[in-house]
Amino acid sequence: MHVKRIAAIAAAFTLSLTMAACSGGGAGSTSGSTSGSTAGGDSAAKGALIGVAMPTKSSERWINDGNNVKSQLEALGYKVDLQYAEDDIPTQVNQIDTMITKGAKVLIVASIDGTALTSQLEQAHSNGIKVIAYDRLIRNSANVDYYTTFDNFKVGVQQATSLLTGLGVLDASGKDAGKTGPLNIELFAGSPDDNNATFFYNGAMSVLKPYIDKKVLVVKSGQTDFKTIATLRWDPATAQSRMENLLTSTYADGSKVAGVLSPYDGLSIGILGALKGVGYGTASQPYPTVTGQDAEAASVKSIIKGEQYSTIYKDTRELAKVTVAMTDAILKGQQPKVTDTKTYDNGVKVVPSYLLESQIITKDNYKKVLVDGGYYTEAQLS
Ligand code: BGC
Repeated sequence: MHVKRIAAIAAAFTLSLTMAACSGGGAGSTSGSTSGSTAGGDSAAKGALIGVAMPTKSSERWINDGNNVKSQLEALGYKVDLQYAEDDIPTQVNQIDTMITKGAKVLIVASIDGTALTSQLEQAHSNGIKVIAYDRLIRNSANVDYYTTFDNFKVGVQQATSLLTGLGVLDASGKDAGKTGPLNIELFAGSPDDNNATFFYNGAMSVLKPYIDKKVLVVKSGQTDFKTIATLRWDPATAQSRMENLLTSTYADGSKVAGVLSPYDGLSIGILGALKGVGYGTASQPYPTVTGQDAEAASVKSIIKGEQYSTIYKDTRELAKVTVAMTDAILKGQQPKVTDTKTYDNGVKVVPSYLLESQIITKDNYKKVLVDGGYYTEAQLS
């Protein structure tokens, strides 16, 4: 109702806004926000500047995300200010301030700390800038218009499922293989300031808990709560040293680790490094089942070599595609497509989201999915 009224008033002044109103409402109508709409038809969209804020170049996935979003926006004629903040919160805050000053019309933000951008987003909205949270939800702000991501709970379910498959608790078809254990496992979670990390953890625990309760799986360190197992800034070195500590304390009695839940390929590399340091990774003492996420090239290579067991593939080309389509729709005064309006409550509002699907990758299917699917060439994985 509100949207229609505003559009009707605006229609009296400009032809472009008349067109936007006719095409089904302003860009903010799903979120209920209409103030300072940038919707203005094709003429407003042409050559507009889009700010793209990415967290870090230290992980391959964000480099691919940034490049994909930039090139696809440029192909549609937009200008792009792409920035990386090297996981430093004040740097990301400054970068977003600068994008606003430069006159960006839409901000696409993969946040470092999902709670640290409230005042920047307030300023963005008072300047009529629309905000899309990219992959990571921005929390505690009413000024987030849309969210594009994967089904993050399901990513956690897939990580835990592949851990169980690697341990032989589930068979290849996903059925319980009747193993009674006890199998020693350890758990790692992502950065506590990243909303996704809790979703991954909750998804994984929904699968693992029944097996922990039945004592098929034993978390030998006893460390199972999110805060204890979280890894600030997803830092591989932090995960490596926690794993080293576990090996020299919990496993000092000579007992073996059978599996490690790792939520991100970078952490898996650190965890495998710690295991190697105490003698795992040989024919007589193979690595435990270690999971991951992102299908980064180094980890897919590790999977091919039989070190890391699995990863979760999230096609960043698709994420870029839906985010770019959303941006284009916003700027043309159209209604962006969303697939979920229930799941992602950021503490102030439920953010309309577009969710993509992820996939478990192991040695058995990497070729079919990643190589045949054109994500990597065979040469990039050898
Ligand atoms: C992303 C994951 C990634 C992690 C570390 C999360 O927000 O969803 O894909 O592994 O950040 O970069």
